[in-house]
Amino acid sequence: MWKIPVSSVDVAGLEEEYVVDAIRSTWVSSTGKSVDRFEQEFSEICNTKMTVACANGTTAMHLALLGLKLEPGDEVIVPSMTFIASANAIRYCGAEPVFVDVDPNTWCLDPRAVEAAVTPRTKGIMAVHLMGHPADMDALNRLAAIYGLWVLEDAAEAHFAKYKGRMVGSLGTMGTFSFYGNKIITSGEGGAITLNDPRMESHLKTLRGHGMDPRRRYYFPVTGYNYRLTNVSCAMLCAQLRRRDEIVAQRRKVFAHYQESLRTIPGIRMQPVAPWAEPAPWMFSCLVDPNSYGLSRDELMQGLAAEGIDSRPFFHPLHQLPPYRECAARQKHDLTYTEQLGMNGIMLPTYNTLSSREIESIAATIVRLRARQMRFVA
Ligand SMILES: *Cc1c(COP(=O)(O)O)cnc(C)c1O
Repeated sequence: MWKIPVSSVDVAGLEEEYVVDAIRSTWVSSTGKSVDRFEQEFSEICNTKMTVACANGTTAMHLALLGLKLEPGDEVIVPSMTFIASANAIRYCGAEPVFVDVDPNTWCLDPRAVEAAVTPRTKGIMAVHLMGHPADMDALNRLAAIYGLWVLEDAAEAHFAKYKGRMVGSLGTMGTFSFYGNKIITSGEGGAITLNDPRMESHLKTLRGHGMDPRRRYYFPVTGYNYRLTNVSCAMLCAQLRRRDEIVAQRRKVFAHYQESLRTIPGIRMQPVAPWAEPAPWMFSCLVDPNSYGLSRDELMQGLAAEGIDSRPFFHPLHQLPPYRECAARQKHDLTYTEQLGMNGIMLPTYNTLSSREIESIAATIVRLRARQMRFVA
């Protein structure tokens, strides 16, 4: 048991009441008022015409890619610095993820690297809004227009983030979200696709529900999937949406407190924020420069763990993981910055109920570990 876990869920508000209502209504499966209400409210918030709720973020991505008719032989450009599900969803369609580097100023897809990776087989770009920071969508949409590609936003970590004042999820061809337990709003497991095309919406809903014809019950014109989300989960999401301003404001306070406390520690570099970005406060992330901090990222994590403080390394770059090593080696793209982030990036405990005292104790531990090491070196 950690004294301070790296993330924690707060469902102590309206969630119980909403979930109990859903249970009492007996609509516990995947139809019901809360599904419709969640889909409508989420679209309103994200400024899209519609939302399709899904079992989780990965099924949302897979379903969106199926809707975009991704097939074997196709390629999709994806950052190597992301959660593995972004690439897995591409592979579920038999297509090939093409791994490119991220921009040091955003930690998201570098548009120049994307352009260099386009081939005649490229069908789309998966714009991951990594660690809550939006990708440079204007640059990516411009490339998409030039080369005839679609852009799918993976906004799993970036709920309610803004790009030039506009909501993520509304900026590409479609957007996908995850409501896993460590995301900003959660239903334990859950996901959603945001979009503006009514024909695509109806196609995705058909695929989501076993491929059943919406006008002819138990007739199946296509091979579908069971990627539905339950009414009970949607009830929890409706409660989380009502509380979203409070949850986001509390997480922003945690971010501000960390920034204030860690700013002056040599060798600790904050997550960059592009001038056009209003990032979502997902996990507080920073980079450890072993030369000036005195300890490596892994040593810092061990030091924190010894004090009962959990933390997380950044994602292993996907091109270094067994399922993708070979295809990335064939692609031969420069992934230098991704590798640096993978080696030096750390996420500190972030959740809306984390107290000021706890943040101060985490920051004090980071200062103390460095001081001890520096004395040792001298
Ligand atoms: C969490 C996450 C997902 C997957 O979401 P699940 O709901 O766990 O399937 C996809 N992409 C990114 C970037 C994520 O962080």
